Amino acid sequence: MNVVEEIKQIQDEIVKWRRDLHQIPEVGFDLPETAKYVANELSKMGIEYKTNMGGTGIVGIIKGEKEGKVIALRADMDALPIKEDTKVEYASTNGNMHACGHDTHAAMLLGAAKILNKHKEELKGSVKLIFQTNEEGAQGAKAIIKDGALENPKIDAVLGLHIGSIFSEVGDGQIGVGYDKIMASFDRFYIKIKGHGCHGAMPHVGVDPVAIAGQVITAFQTIVSREMKPTHPAVVTIGKVNGGTAYNVIPNYVEIEGTFRAVDQKQREMIVQRMEEITAGITKAMRGDYEFEVVWGAPPVINNEEFTKDFVETAKGIIGEENIIELKEPSMGGEDIAYFLNEVPGTFFFLGAFNEEKGIVHPHHTPKFNVDEDVFWKGSALLAQGALDWLNK
Ligand SMILES: [Zn+2]
Ligand SMILES: [Zn+2]
Repeated sequence: MNVVEEIKQIQDEIVKWRRDLHQIPEVGFDLPETAKYVANELSKMGIEYKTNMGGTGIVGIIKGEKEGKVIALRADMDALPIKEDTKVEYASTNGNMHACGHDTHAAMLLGAAKILNKHKEELKGSVKLIFQTNEEGAQGAKAIIKDGALENPKIDAVLGLHIGSIFSEVGDGQIGVGYDKIMASFDRFYIKIKGHGCHGAMPHVGVDPVAIAGQVITAFQTIVSREMKPTHPAVVTIGKVNGGTAYNVIPNYVEIEGTFRAVDQKQREMIVQRMEEITAGITKAMRGDYEFEVVWGAPPVINNEEFTKDFVETAKGIIGEENIIELKEPSMGGEDIAYFLNEVPGTFFFLGAFNEEKGIVHPHHTPKFNVDEDVFWKGSALLAQGALDWLNK
């Protein structure tokens, strides 16, 4: 059996799946058209699956004839509320856009599934096919796990990928691999600094939340620079400050929103604790009050070293050692595959798909984002052969 050669033969079909999905982008948990499309393709292949897992997610299974372990191949399939401006003939017109490439992840997983299913009699164990919703909101993985995606049969490992240019050192058709912490946690915070509004000419009769907010914002800059171990990357970013209605009025409150990132769970918890302590201390000292909320995103993405080493051996045989780039530093972006990798060993790798000659240079989450479709067979082959080699080891 030569999975890779067979996947090369269906490259055009993978492109077609991707272009079809690209035209029906949907956002969040509710992806009815996308899920229907994926389910229909799995049915055509004769693969069993469950629907409505973690929203409209799908969990398929390919059972090998021999007993063995279970590996999950994971793809996300949600899009973003961005109006597409790529001018490609298969561009979306419904106001949403696959601006992160999750359409390609779903298509590449379908490609892997099709060929693995044809060879299931040679499989030792089973392959679960996880098509999850709402990665962008960092909620889909958690939800599909809660709905039992990792059980019956219980999975022993997970393999997933992200296409595009998340790591700029990974060239077109190359892959980036990391053996440990590879992406950060990504959480969101909201703070309401409460003062007491009054006339701008008579500040002494009120409590100015703008002045308090200024101190809080400044003090936050020292959380990473003075309190975190310098060799462990972390980020605190305030992306939004909102307060006031007129130039000569002291408002009642100021709102501050932002995100914090860490590659270490302890540091992640410490950042939140320190943000709240600083906010509480400064607001109290300056006669104000506050509300503090955290919307938890996904934990850090941590690959398993041993699994990744095995996967790299597989990858060498498919794309050649020279096309495997070891990622030495994590990205401070996040990915909710972290929830799967918290449960079982596995790896999340990055498939480079930017190509200057083809004009494919626009970043993720922007209206002109696209990817080089010629790399799709590689993604499918790496998933399929990665699963096969791990099960048959
Ligand atoms: Zn994204
Ligand atoms: Zn993404």
